Amino acid sequence: MLSKLYGQKGISLMGVSKAVLGEPAIIEAMIQGGVRIIADSRIETIQKMKSAGISAQFVLLRTALSQAEAVVKTVDISLNTEIETLQHLSYYAKAYNKTHQVIIMVELGDLREGVLPCDLVQFVRQTLTLSHIKIVGIGCNLACYGGVKPDRKNMRALSELVTLLEAEFQISLEIISGGNSANYEWYKSTPDLGRVNNLRLGESILLGCESVNRKAIPGLHTQAFQLIAEVIESKKKPSFPFGEIGYDAFGNVPTFQDRGIRQRAIVALGRQDVLVSGLQPNGRLEIIGSSSDHIILDSKNYNLQVGDEVTFNLDYGSLLAAMTSPFIRKQFVASKSHTSHAAA
Ligand SMILES: *Cc1c(COP(=O)(O)O)cnc(C)c1O
Repeated sequence: MLSKLYGQKGISLMGVSKAVLGEPAIIEAMIQGGVRIIADSRIETIQKMKSAGISAQFVLLRTALSQAEAVVKTVDISLNTEIETLQHLSYYAKAYNKTHQVIIMVELGDLREGVLPCDLVQFVRQTLTLSHIKIVGIGCNLACYGGVKPDRKNMRALSELVTLLEAEFQISLEIISGGNSANYEWYKSTPDLGRVNNLRLGESILLGCESVNRKAIPGLHTQAFQLIAEVIESKKKPSFPFGEIGYDAFGNVPTFQDRGIRQRAIVALGRQDVLVSGLQPNGRLEIIGSSSDHIILDSKNYNLQVGDEVTFNLDYGSLLAAMTSPFIRKQFVASKSHTSHAAA
């Protein structure tokens, strides 16, 4: 649906695989959904996807100088912002008799990666002198560190930089990658996309929402991922700890509200596995606390039994952590309702 939504106005998609650690079953689903390019921030994950036989064009979202050789060997395109790194990439590309393609990332206010617009012409001039590097596009990334929203102003600035570079160097830039899942509102509301013709989407594909307000995108499934944990204790207990209160396991002095005796449950899941603040338990359960290996639930007088399962929805941060935890078993369930849901 996203391929169609964005494709109808000429925007191609990179499917971003990092939140699911490049799980081949999920990446195959992205490709079946019309994504031709898979992008990840970790070279190791791209190597894993290639070994699993995934056939797509691969883009590296975060390039480290020390990995230049592996980058050239493994990926078609990498995102870059430093000339030293590009020099190393060119060196290894020459050694492997390849041309390495790059997208130069431009800083448009969010203050994560990007060449400042005032330095861009000089940066591109230097890059063009590198014999085995081809600049295939420019891009920007917003709403990650600074929370800056993609809007008409910063997207227009990106388009203007494209025009400027093309005129200055007589080149044509193929890929103008305007951003990520945060670009949805801008896309829906702008009368003019300018030169933007690509987005890199992780969260929208995986969780069905845009990432500025975390609003569901109409027609998309927002519960494709479910985290299931086992109840290991279920008891009526006071809600106010007894004894003298000092530091908890994470060095904080906790405060508590006395809600009297409550039915509580503990599930075998903790901060080592997941970002607890991004979990939403199903049903009437409420998360009241967590430590490395335990999440404590107020079960609202619902008498969970030891061995019962509790199901959680996850946000992007929780998904990222859960997929990375070796303690969480990943199981892929073919969804029968998939076709009818997509049709609706
Ligand atoms: C993670 C990442 C994305 C994907 O972001 P979502 O919000 O998941 O769509 C896009 N671009 C870059 C550079 C990233 O690091």
